[in-house]
Amino acid sequence: MGYNVQTAVDTKHHLIVAHEVTNVGNDHGQLSRMAISAKNAMGKARLKVVADRGYYSGPEIRACDLGNISAYVPKPLTSASRKKGLFTKADFVYESGSDVYRCPADERAIHRFNTVEHDMTLRVYWPSACPRCHLKDRCSPSDYRRIRRWEHENILESMQRRLDRKPDAMTIRRSTVEHVFGTLKHWMGPAHFLTRTLGRVSTEMSLQVLAYNLKRVINLLGVAETMKAMKMAGS
Ligand code: SF4
Repeated sequence: MGYNVQTAVDTKHHLIVAHEVTNVGNDHGQLSRMAISAKNAMGKARLKVVADRGYYSGPEIRACDLGNISAYVPKPLTSASRKKGLFTKADFVYESGSDVYRCPADERAIHRFNTVEHDMTLRVYWPSACPRCHLKDRCSPSDYRRIRRWEHENILESMQRRLDRKPDAMTIRRSTVEHVFGTLKHWMGPAHFLTRTLGRVSTEMSLQVLAYNLKRVINLLGVAETMKAMKMAGS
């Protein structure tokens, strides 16, 4: 059984503010729960969260948005069109005022119908000009190049604009979590967990996190201040 440890680390003090052990093999679908836990733990009304591409999920990013959390998650680089050397969706510009996409041949792809995939309502667009287009070889082997737009795609577009304004977001993420992961892995050794089953592994991980945070707070405040703060928190 593999265990997946999710952690949220604050960028200022590098403390682990939320964590969870799951037996889900990937990070997809984990973003909003961790982000909301982190926001609650930090007592913030709003929060910015930075995560790597593995966390990119429209519904998860929307759940963050609804919870007053601004996510910064880059898009995965797995475009089937790009692999085939064809135009990708990034080559199509959405014009919100008229609800059309402007395609690489400067044609208007208009909304045709809606479909539902993976519980997401997608709006489907294509231009009428495709069959006679001089760029067709670089666009689609089908008669018409279809562009799908999630009904909440504007949330993802806003996030992309935030990411464009913050080019160091992924550097901040790396420099924040790598020290934490490195330290915990070093402590836990090659066997990782000493216990088995999700409940026990979660407890073991919580103890590791507690120890990590205590050491970190002592480094930041010193022993006397840490003890004073703990007494105040306990009174
Ligand atoms: S094939 Fe269609 S979508 Fe692609 S560039 Fe030509 S007109 Fe635009």
